[in-house]
Amino acid sequence: MVFEQVGSPLRAVERETPTPRPGQLLLRVHACGICRTDLHLLDGEVEIKQPPRILGHQIVATVEDIGAGNETAIEAGDRVGVPWLGWTDGTCAWCRSGRENLCPNARFTGCDVDGGFAEYALADARFCFPIPEVYPDEQAAPLMCAGLIGYRALRMCGEAHRIGLYGFGASAHILAQVCSSQGREVYAFTRAGDQKTQAFARELGAVWAGASEDAPPEPLDAAIIFAPVGSLVPLALAAVAPGGTVVCGGIYMSDIPSFPYSELWQERTVRSVANLTRADAREFLPLAPRVPVHTHVTSYRLEQANEALADLRAGRFSGAAVLLP
Ligand SMILES: [Zn+2]
Ligand SMILES: [Zn+2]
Repeated sequence: MVFEQVGSPLRAVERETPTPRPGQLLLRVHACGICRTDLHLLDGEVEIKQPPRILGHQIVATVEDIGAGNETAIEAGDRVGVPWLGWTDGTCAWCRSGRENLCPNARFTGCDVDGGFAEYALADARFCFPIPEVYPDEQAAPLMCAGLIGYRALRMCGEAHRIGLYGFGASAHILAQVCSSQGREVYAFTRAGDQKTQAFARELGAVWAGASEDAPPEPLDAAIIFAPVGSLVPLALAAVAPGGTVVCGGIYMSDIPSFPYSELWQERTVRSVANLTRADAREFLPLAPRVPVHTHVTSYRLEQANEALADLRAGRFSGAAVLLP
């Protein structure tokens, strides 16, 4: 399912099965999660520099073939996951200081290189990870971005006990489970009147769920904003206690309205979280089955990719959506 240009739906195309180059794996895709970032790519809010491009950066696949010079322990037949971070230069100041997520030359799966909305995909073996055995393919797929980047955002919250999650989609539904297992309290914020999502959040352990405009019953220690809505930043700042952090977890957000300095005063912090490092994946993927994280998944056939993306845009499912080639 190929992206050709902004404003057009993905198009089903037949292509030759690709051949892995040195260092690459040929993967047979079993499942690929869809992500809000895919909507931003479709809409041109995040640019695809060289279309046509196969989107999809939450791949669960088995290794069919291995290119020359494989430096990893991955073997043919292994089940692996492929995340958004697809390649880094390894030599820049960010890569050399454990911040490869900020590499200026990074290539992202399903954006700079072809991704997993396909039957086959290529991936750099060094950026593929074993999938915990207990997860079926479709339950594992949302771990690869919703889980990984959500977990990175949670780490930016430090020891915060009361955590607000603004936008209760794929990432938040995973994080709520992680937070509960760590003894933290989750406060879920949704669109006003979205009783269904608020009930879903409570089922997953949220101690409170309400509208984004509502004040939580207790001041929060931190908040993570997953919805791409800039006006949530001052709302979240108003909900966090002195010293609290507001983390913006998405790749794109509408403009943040101006707000009085007093909302930031008392050492409140606003920050973004960008991409992921391989260290994040090595930490989170083994952790997920120990929580245990159960992902709630709505599955679509690969050729239903446009329908799945429209359903994500309209909020027609709870949890995560996954394409099954
Ligand atoms: Zn994503
Ligand atoms: Zn780099």
